[in-house]
Amino acid sequence: MTLQSVVDELRERPGTGEVIPVIDPATEEQIAEFTDCGEDAVDDAVARARATFESGVWHGLPARERAKIMWRIADLMDQHVDELAELDSLNTGMPLVQAQNIMPTCAEFFRYYAGWCTKLDGAAYDVRMTGGITGAHASMHAYTIKEPFGVVGHIIPWNGPMMTACAKLAPALAAGCSNVLKPAEETPLSALLLVKLIAQAGVPDGVVNLLTGNGHTAGAALAAHPDVDKIAFTGSTEVGKQIVRAAAGNLKKVLLELGGKSPVLIYDDADLETAIKVAAGGIFVHSGQGCVCGSRIFVQRSVYDQVVDGVAQAANAAKLGGPKEKGSRIGPLISQKQLTRVMGFIDEGKRDGVEVVTGGHRLDRRGYFVHPTVLTNVDPAMRLYQQEIFGPVVTILPFDDDDEAVAMANDTTYGLAATVWTNNLSRAHRLAKRLESGTITLNCQLVFDHAVPFGGYKQSGWGLEYGREGIETYMQTKSVWTQL
Ligand code: ADP
Repeated sequence: MTLQSVVDELRERPGTGEVIPVIDPATEEQIAEFTDCGEDAVDDAVARARATFESGVWHGLPARERAKIMWRIADLMDQHVDELAELDSLNTGMPLVQAQNIMPTCAEFFRYYAGWCTKLDGAAYDVRMTGGITGAHASMHAYTIKEPFGVVGHIIPWNGPMMTACAKLAPALAAGCSNVLKPAEETPLSALLLVKLIAQAGVPDGVVNLLTGNGHTAGAALAAHPDVDKIAFTGSTEVGKQIVRAAAGNLKKVLLELGGKSPVLIYDDADLETAIKVAAGGIFVHSGQGCVCGSRIFVQRSVYDQVVDGVAQAANAAKLGGPKEKGSRIGPLISQKQLTRVMGFIDEGKRDGVEVVTGGHRLDRRGYFVHPTVLTNVDPAMRLYQQEIFGPVVTILPFDDDDEAVAMANDTTYGLAATVWTNNLSRAHRLAKRLESGTITLNCQLVFDHAVPFGGYKQSGWGLEYGREGIETYMQTKSVWTQL
């Protein structure tokens, strides 16, 4: 599908609400527009998904057949890797090479979870009951069945449209669920191609349904819908809480992958050159618009100045530019709204006496580019220290010992990821236990594998994605008892 055909198809999609422009964040120019699908479209999509679930046209297939179709999705994605990468990079502003690197990982979700289709077995239990209701001693046979949840609504953010869509659809399809996918209103382009490839691979009509609409309309209606069994959401903690409230109506289950304010602890015995390089990349990549970005760096006092200098140098060396600009390593923020929000945090910090070591301003060019920014002299009570900024902004503070480092690292409502840089093995593992976070990375950052569970502690989420846990998210367990 060429860009023009995606744009045309998006424009033709029926809707009843406002006309939503799709903006290229690197140029601020409009690349497409579409009409908010409205609430009737949500009802229709859920009804179609429900009908396929009731008929069993997908979850009733032999598991090996579902697996074959999922492999085909991955193969088709590989064949269309250039188009998918182009759509996501144009729409999000991320460098084209970065999008090209990500796409095979997205496709791999379908292969990884294809393998699980044939392994979704329950367990058998040999139970001796003594003195049940009848008072009799009885031998029982009990077993569990793993069943797909039913109709799942997937609400996707704009920062990694394909990655988050595939991370949710692949395990949900492997589990046998029927699905409604709502990409972010800022980034609907790649989802149009993805659902086409899914259909082409042989997933029956109605098993994956696309909604193109706003969060407060289509997203909210999906989250509140009485016939949706589960919502899988990636996005801000604030919207996550709204989804939980909306889900209360029918007590639908909710998977939440939310924000972070991830700490990075750098000790004086670490390989400092690597730590500085990776910690800088760990916040400035994708202009800080990643939930696991390490936005708070804490440094042992003896090497504090060295690390601040090093991260600032990396910030100044970072080449910002549009997706196809030569040598560009970092793209713009996604939108004017996000630019205003990020600059609001920075300007407030400046007024409150924060020291701007480097950055602190948008670039003097078209596009929502913010210079990678390093802040010191930060008071932990400040909003910019407590809240997720989702921009290329890092605070760096010194610490003296483990207790102080852990206390500062854990002083947040979030708990998504935490990193320790040290060559002291015992300390690394002691800290891994003490840090309140769903993922701990030791002497590395931003690592990922489809098989390793991922989820947030505290207000960073509910439930787990990836790995075995990631497919169990889309299944429920039924216990069956038999009197022998
Ligand atoms: P941001 O605020 O940075 O745009 P969000 O967390 O709001 O990020 O967006 C993530 C996804 O949640 C998007 O698909 C968006 O449309 C959707 N969304 C936003 N508000 C709501 C809501 N009230 N109910 C359901 N979905 C929503």
